[in-house]
Amino acid sequence: MNIAFIGLGNMGGKMVQNLLKTGATVYGFDLSQTAIAHFVEAGGIASDSPHDAAKNADIVITMLPAAKHVKEIYLAEDGVFTVLKQGSICIDSSTIDPQSIKDIAKIGAEKGIKVCDAPVSGGTIGAQAGTLTFMVGTDADLFEQVKSVLSSMGKNIVYCGEVGSGQIAKICNNLILGISMTAVAEGMALGAKLGIDPQILAGVINSSSGRCWSSEVCNPWPDVSANAPAGRGYSDGFATQLMLKDLGLAIEAAGQVKQPVLLAGLVQQQYQQLCMQGNAQLDFSSIIQQYLPQNSQ
Ligand code: NAD
Repeated sequence: MNIAFIGLGNMGGKMVQNLLKTGATVYGFDLSQTAIAHFVEAGGIASDSPHDAAKNADIVITMLPAAKHVKEIYLAEDGVFTVLKQGSICIDSSTIDPQSIKDIAKIGAEKGIKVCDAPVSGGTIGAQAGTLTFMVGTDADLFEQVKSVLSSMGKNIVYCGEVGSGQIAKICNNLILGISMTAVAEGMALGAKLGIDPQILAGVINSSSGRCWSSEVCNPWPDVSANAPAGRGYSDGFATQLMLKDLGLAIEAAGQVKQPVLLAGLVQQQYQQLCMQGNAQLDFSSIIQQYLPQNSQ
């Protein structure tokens, strides 16, 4: 089984390493030469274009920033759909709006290509450890076919319903995450200002009712959570601009069904401000900087 992996960034670059450990033949493409170099070092085969990566593939996995990149990779004049054979499978793990993946899947189906959405949760830490949760939107048959390849990169492979349902689950999850990270940042910064040792405070939260992924696995205070972006200057994590994108997706979807999402709107403005201050590439846990005197960390 040949696999093409397109988008070897913070997430894709780590996920593909676990895929390579299974002995799979993986053709990879990314616009970044550094990303390609790491991929080749791990045993992958570099390709010159998405088209080139997909030409020998039975399965294509994409892990790209946003819907416009995913559409370009699959649907462009020289895109992946022009080269795949009938019966091939495409798995998009990027976080995008549910309608875009439905549109791509419809065009794929007309060419005999099967497409599913399988966005992930677990961050770069989960991507590295191979413990991601995949939220899969497809029919039951294709779900069975993609389960084993996804299992090499994640530990929870969840069937969410028809194509697009994985994205619905993902944007709701990230709405909660964006809010919970802000809440943990607010609590950690207040505790530090009031004089408690942040390590002790985090220990209390993580054995109390405030505990959540943002407090335990990815605490925004430096060196509280092992391997969290906060301990390396908020680099190599889930970029603030991507969290802002996901909150935008949730707010847009909520608008379509006239559902109020009050806190999402509030924290969206905070992440927006963080981006405006030049921190768009930093992990979203750097939201704690909004609560600290400048350069205090
Ligand atoms: P990233 O920006 O680190 O990686 C994206 C990669 O895609 C980059 O290496 C970029 O060069 C490449 N790329 C962009 N356009 C391309 C093109 N046309 N052809 C080939 N490569 C191209 O982003 P990431 O953090 O890896 O996130 C990827 C997706 O996963 C996003 O949709 C994000 O919302 C989602 N996600 C990220 C995290 C996280 O913690 N980083 C967690 C869950 C989901």
